[in-house]
Amino acid sequence: MASLYGQEIQTLKGVGKRRAELFRKLGAPSVGALLRLYPRAYEDLSHPSPIRTAPLGTPCAIRATVIQAPRETRIRGGMTLYKARADDGESTLELTFFNNRFVMNLLRENETYLFYGKVTANFLKREMASPEFYPAESCPQVLPVYRRTNGLSSRMIGNAVREALRLLPDPIRDPIPPMLRKEHSLPRLDFALKNIHFPGDMESLALARRRLIFEELLVLQLGLLKIGGRSRSRSRFQLQKDFTAEFYSLLPFSPTEAQKRAVREAMADLLGGFPMNRLIQGDVGSGKTAVAAALCHSAIRNGMQAALMAPTEILARQHARTLSALLSPAGIRVGLLTGSLPAAEKKKLRAALACGEIDLLIGTHALISAEVKFLRLGLVVTDEQHRFGVTQRAALAAKGGRPHMLIMSATPIPRTLALMIYGDLDLSVLDELPPGRQKTETYAVTPDYRTRVFSFVKKQIQKGRQSYIICPTIEEGGSDMASVTAYTELLKNKWLPDCRIAMLHGKMKPKEKEAVMDRFSRGETDVLVSTTVVEVGVDVPNATVMLVENAERYGLSQLHQLRGRIGRGTHASACILISAAQNDEALARLKIMCSTSDGFHIAEEDLKLRGPGDFFGNRQHGLPDLRIADMMADMGPLQEAQSVAKEIFDSDPELSLPEHRGLRAEVRQLFENWTD
Ligand code: ADP
Ligand code: MG
Repeated sequence: MASLYGQEIQTLKGVGKRRAELFRKLGAPSVGALLRLYPRAYEDLSHPSPIRTAPLGTPCAIRATVIQAPRETRIRGGMTLYKARADDGESTLELTFFNNRFVMNLLRENETYLFYGKVTANFLKREMASPEFYPAESCPQVLPVYRRTNGLSSRMIGNAVREALRLLPDPIRDPIPPMLRKEHSLPRLDFALKNIHFPGDMESLALARRRLIFEELLVLQLGLLKIGGRSRSRSRFQLQKDFTAEFYSLLPFSPTEAQKRAVREAMADLLGGFPMNRLIQGDVGSGKTAVAAALCHSAIRNGMQAALMAPTEILARQHARTLSALLSPAGIRVGLLTGSLPAAEKKKLRAALACGEIDLLIGTHALISAEVKFLRLGLVVTDEQHRFGVTQRAALAAKGGRPHMLIMSATPIPRTLALMIYGDLDLSVLDELPPGRQKTETYAVTPDYRTRVFSFVKKQIQKGRQSYIICPTIEEGGSDMASVTAYTELLKNKWLPDCRIAMLHGKMKPKEKEAVMDRFSRGETDVLVSTTVVEVGVDVPNATVMLVENAERYGLSQLHQLRGRIGRGTHASACILISAAQNDEALARLKIMCSTSDGFHIAEEDLKLRGPGDFFGNRQHGLPDLRIADMMADMGPLQEAQSVAKEIFDSDPELSLPEHRGLRAEVRQLFENWTD
């Protein structure tokens, strides 16, 4: 199997240069990678429908005998149409094919086939256009459906996979040792690969899936253990003195007990002899920034540099603004490095950094680019870490001879998952909000309440408050409600004509975004219509309304993040979730949002409702790209894989035993392809 990763996709029969390029785009540059490109769904052909009662408009299977072989009818513009007719003993089905003369040879009169496609009907006849078909006696029961790309149909991918499966060595080297397979009742790799692509039946498919999910999670866990366990050698950046008291005197407020505790715990790490590796989890608004600032301050007062990495430019700028206001009175020099900074200024900044004229560097992931060199980087803070990959953290750590690491997360990750994914980190929890906060009320309403909602927004504006309105997309056909630009126009011209309205979305230039955000934080805009770019961390205490259109489209954790943008000041705030959705799951989600504001609780509920697969699927976790675990429906496999990974890691951390070589190759494969 490992050798198939070295075999280029082009070597497969039927894959030429052009098609090879498409396969590469899909993430399958090699035969081995193609075999790991699992179907995203399956068509179950095992229960064909009678023609008369076949569902209309959705694909279905029909078993019927050809009573009239295909005939050619030419139509305009060089299009050739082929028409045939089939019968299932009860009714007749018209079949049409376009520009496909091969059907003339493939469909024979009096032979029975399985047709798969969408049925349309009028009162005279039932019809299927361009169905797939298979001779009935050799028809597969289950067909794979692959994620397609332009120019590469699911069927073409399937054909290539069939060729690739022929190349599997026999016997195959299975990365999961026989003992382990037996213990966990898992089938062999060759069985799993054959059946994940071309299942003999649904049962074999389930077995194959279980095995591949287990394998992928096991490999993932082993890789994470390896990253986490990477030496506990002594720190070069041990702090000599704790300057927390001095820092607290700079703060315009008194820290909460939870903040003090978190600072104390992290400070003990910094003063100890080993590099800190700590995760601070705190609900939105719990004041994580102040904790980070305290630690940066002490590190800097001990003669080191510190870096703070934020997931978006907006957030980086905001941090730079707050922290430079807070820390410059203490003589601390703060720099801001983002992707959009002009080249000349970047150069200047880098020079200042390299000779130690900047103490605290704040930025986006531009911070980890190779040209950025620190003189003495002792502490790295990453904010809202779920957007940052473990690799990015590792890259930063590698810069300065293993500095202390502090990671801040607003817990969109349920505790159970977090423990598995950040098992190597020490944890501090901010379980207390700063005093004086008003409770945020949350309401879920249907779109017919919109007029009332706007009059509420208007009242808030009259009181001097500001509002966010979140729409799912920028623009595109769709409904007006779903488009930031169209929505903004409607607000300006119709709903809130006298108010100051601005919009913000990811396609805008960084400078524009910055200007819009700046005006909003200065209170010069009443309503900000935005995509979820404001989701993470933005802090405008005067904003009191968060209105979310199409709220059913968001996960609970995401809604919770959005809601966290309000209720940050001393004014009562309201989160309004507008949704027309009527299905049980959507309603259940909205209900949870209305009933609790506890981020931990919400994360757990989200996990229960959607399963961990959804977490692995949404790519915000910063883990390598998983191929199958994102189809997982419950936590079972993850727990199973984790405990096995621990056992293996404890006995053979380098995976050097002969029976672990296959696993080692897979770990390399997964983490090598790892792009964030
Ligand atoms: P988050 O944990 O979501 O990153 P922030 O650090 O952005 O939260 O803090 C949210 C708001 O609360 C900020 O306006 C901050 O100045 C304020 N804040 C933080 N700690 C305290 C405190 N102990 N007392 C009062 N206000 C605080
Ligand atoms: Mg924050």
